[in-house]
Amino acid sequence: KANNAKTEFLSSMSHEIRTPLNAITGFAEALKDEPDLPDRVREDVNDILMASESLLEIVNGVLDISKIEANKLEIINNNYNPYRMFKDLTTLTRVRIGEKPIELIAQMDETIPKVLYGDHTRVKQVILNILTNAAKYTKEGHIIFKVNSVIKGEICRLIVSVEDTGIGIKRDKIDKLFDKFERLDEDRNTTIEGTGLGLAITKRLVQLMHGELVVQSIYGKGSKFTVSIDQKIAPSDVKLEDTIEV
Ligand code: ADP
Repeated sequence: KANNAKTEFLSSMSHEIRTPLNAITGFAEALKDEPDLPDRVREDVNDILMASESLLEIVNGVLDISKIEANKLEIINNNYNPYRMFKDLTTLTRVRIGEKPIELIAQMDETIPKVLYGDHTRVKQVILNILTNAAKYTKEGHIIFKVNSVIKGEICRLIVSVEDTGIGIKRDKIDKLFDKFERLDEDRNTTIEGTGLGLAITKRLVQLMHGELVVQSIYGKGSKFTVSIDQKIAPSDVKLEDTIEV
């Protein structure tokens, strides 16, 4: 009962926060396009936009975790194009890497069927979170993003791995990685934005989809996150509602 009340409170609160936040972002976006803006003001406007984005991320994260804890998060399956998802994820990661000297190596096993049946929003959220972390916690080097598959009858097991040359995780801290609001090595990470909710959500989403999440890491050298999730194979002539063929 208490959990349900918490979820209800959080969902209405996050809705209330999102409405004025949209106004802030909207006006800041409009201001940014003003041609004669002094540089200092332009910088301030960019800061407003960045802060609004991270506030939105926090609100969404808190909402997700409370929904999961109240068993209110549903897995909604649909047909989707995994190649399209892979392309989107690669683009988003490139944007996240920005100017950092990191090479992104992205490979997708071509035997993966063109149409899969599963909750593509949640599968994408899980993979994006791991890729975003790799980009956040790596200064230089490379990120290898691989999607492999094992096909058995009607099921395609997606095996997604993300390997980075980042700061790594201490062996005795690996257990804490998936606790909510837990951030490791805070003294080294002061300049990296985060809430410590991402991996807590990721782990629970993977569990909800009956998948598996494995972490290997060497402190100071890098980390490798591997997610395996089974998806049904849809007939390839099936209509894709919300995805575009590539
Ligand atoms: P955050 O919002 O802090 O990034 P996460 O739940 O996604 O939260 O991750 C929790 C913590 O795990 C991070 O604060 C960071 O210390 C550590 N971490 C996650 N991914 C990596 C990675 N690829 N390399 C090194 N540390 C990582």
